Amino acid sequence: MAEPARTSDSEAIRAVVRGEVQDVGFCAATVERARRAGVMGWVRIDDDGAVRVHAEGAVQAVAEFVTFLEAGPPLARVTEVEMEKVAAEGHEQFAIRGVSAGIFVVQEHAATARHFDLRLEVEGVMRSWAVPKGPSLDPAVKRLAVEGGDHAIARSSFEGILDGGGVIVWDRGSYEQGGRVAWPEALERGHAVFVLHGEKLRGGFALQRTRTGTKAQWLLIKRRDDGARPGSDIVAECPRSVLSDRTLDELVP
Ligand code: MN
Repeated sequence: MAEPARTSDSEAIRAVVRGEVQDVGFCAATVERARRAGVMGWVRIDDDGAVRVHAEGAVQAVAEFVTFLEAGPPLARVTEVEMEKVAAEGHEQFAIRGVSAGIFVVQEHAATARHFDLRLEVEGVMRSWAVPKGPSLDPAVKRLAVEGGDHAIARSSFEGILDGGGVIVWDRGSYEQGGRVAWPEALERGHAVFVLHGEKLRGGFALQRTRTGTKAQWLLIKRRDDGARPGSDIVAECPRSVLSDRTLDELVP
């Protein structure tokens, strides 16, 4: 993959491509072309049917890439490309956005200290963080998340008694990997951005590592978007299992 473009002869654009652009392999063709051109950024098909693209790189490479967008892949019929110059964001990949990277689960766990285990499917396992106070939808709240060992994907739907303490599935769904750096590299570097599609947790979140080591410490932070609910306390408001409708206290009499 080409080096990220940060030189003065680089530029960045945001484009909205309209026309018959769905179900014609637009995203795959765009990624292929971007990688060949050494352009970084992302492409996604939005709910309104338009293809949205962020592209940054050398001026000449971006220009060639824009020419591709204006024509589209063979089966597409592009009627309009709306484009604006934006600031480069330092992307190190060209990714398809809006596609599921796997499942996520948040299990509430009554161990010695009650906590919430956030688990994200990454390369065949569930990467796990223990969040003592649980997740928040308030972007002003930073929640400590202590990295723990990986879990098997099959245990993501577990509810019952584990090591003498109860476990409920507090939330679950699919998630998208986001950010400027490809996963799992983003996790290794200690800054990972992702979008949750749960029943309680929705929208963008970031995990920011603050201390490395065997029990690495991270902060879990809600990003400001449509899923954010400033001032809310989702853990207190929605305590029940999304699988069984039980609270942890009802599970462990
Ligand atoms: Mn736990």
